[in-house]
Amino acid sequence: DSAALSRIGLAGLAVMGQNLALNIAEKGFPISVYNRTATKVDETLSRAAAEGDLPVSGHRSPRDFVLSIRRPRSVIILVKAGPPVDQTIAALSPFLDPGDSIIDGGNEWYEHTERRLREASARGLLYLGMGVSGGEDGARHGPSLMPGGHLQAYRNVEDVLARAAAQVDDGPCVTFVGEGGAGNFVKMVHNGIEYGDMQLIAEAYDVLRSAGGLSNAELAAVFDDWNRGELESFLVEITSDIFRVPDEHGGGELVDKILDKTGMKGTGKWTVQQAAELSVAAPTIAASLDSRYLSALKDERVAASDTLDSAGMPPGLLLPAARPVDKKRLVDDVRQALYASKICSYAQGMNLLRAKSDEKGWNLNLGELARIWKGGCIIRARFLDRIKQAYERNRSLPNLIVDPEFAREMVQRQPAWRRVVGLAIEAGIGAPGMSASLAYFDTYRRARLPANLVQAQRDYFGAHTYERVDRPGSFHTEWSKIA
Ligand code: NAP
Repeated sequence: DSAALSRIGLAGLAVMGQNLALNIAEKGFPISVYNRTATKVDETLSRAAAEGDLPVSGHRSPRDFVLSIRRPRSVIILVKAGPPVDQTIAALSPFLDPGDSIIDGGNEWYEHTERRLREASARGLLYLGMGVSGGEDGARHGPSLMPGGHLQAYRNVEDVLARAAAQVDDGPCVTFVGEGGAGNFVKMVHNGIEYGDMQLIAEAYDVLRSAGGLSNAELAAVFDDWNRGELESFLVEITSDIFRVPDEHGGGELVDKILDKTGMKGTGKWTVQQAAELSVAAPTIAASLDSRYLSALKDERVAASDTLDSAGMPPGLLLPAARPVDKKRLVDDVRQALYASKICSYAQGMNLLRAKSDEKGWNLNLGELARIWKGGCIIRARFLDRIKQAYERNRSLPNLIVDPEFAREMVQRQPAWRRVVGLAIEAGIGAPGMSASLAYFDTYRRARLPANLVQAQRDYFGAHTYERVDRPGSFHTEWSKIA
């Protein structure tokens, strides 16, 4: 009885899978679910009942699961990336028929997707690697979806994805990203950009707290205010919330009791590795990754703070009392520095996407990617609409920061941006992300860099030759004989 068959299936019922399955069911698509460990199937079914009698059917064997889905079947997999995906595909594929689709929604390395796509093709199956962003809440109520691979596999589930995805003013936050592993690659860069955003926000907090002396209550109010303007975004919003949460084990706010060591799962590192592979400068994203590495060296940092703290730095420089600051002006400066720094970080991410797109022939539409990030995902923000518009104005814009509108904004914010980075450096705070963004801006906008000297050195010791500014050709000089 084909009427009783589900529209789609989902295997892997941890946080993401459970919530995405309930989301799809809630949008009116009967869904079959499966998980290696059966208790999660039961959990999902009781949630489906509790959250409104949602049309979810649970299955304990891969065979029953697959056969419960209407043909051509589409099966979303949401398990731990890597070998578990291969194992899940191996468990399900004996029961799949030619024309059926496998959709991996995990944070998978794009080359794994390209291999699986080839293997699936050989068996007549279709394949998508689909980036899913928005965490638990996004999966349940509307994520940003970045599917890439076989276009026909996308067409088969377009109606479902369009309803399950977050909805913004110009449509659902899903688009067919491109062929092969394009969807996973785009999700990876999204995460790299997310690293940058989080680091820049953390530095804004550090400057305001350490140099400006703002309390958590003041910080909450500042971020709340920022969230009503050009910085409006999910990450700024949750940051404001974080400052308000009291510590249940004693006085003060929880944020002050959290160990300053950051974890990570690898997508930021892949982004920086890919930037290096493709010769794309991504200093803000790299600084965010380096900051996480340095944060992990807690014991070394504690020891170094003894050895080095008083060595070159007048004691107390970090204290606002030693250097009174105009809080209101500082807050306004930091807002502008954060915004300008963020634009540079997005410019780097977008340039990485373009470079990979050129290499792989993916024909990525950067404006459309900015659009599907406007809702559902962790980096969702008001200004993504402006990025979308910038690429609509000029699809081959070489860099976001030279788009006429962004360029004007960057130039306007320069004085504040320099004041904040200067203050951070003077106060010994560092601000690696903001500094990297500013250096990126300053390097990119200069018509002449000191690279002439580096090239002369290369020719001096390695006869690498050089070009001249005043005549064509390549030249070599016997530097040591003349000098
Ligand atoms: P997860 O913790 O990454 O993985 C747990 C799931 O994987 C469970 O269903 C588990 O099944 C299954 N699994 C592990 N090894 C398996 C194997 N060898 N064979 C079959 N199944 C296996 O789950 P998650 O946090 O929901 O994430 C799922 C995917 O989405 C990951 O790729 C993750 O990176 C990505 N993602 C996560 C988030 C997030 O906020 N958590 C956001 C975006 C994307 P058992 O129950 O049987 O152990």
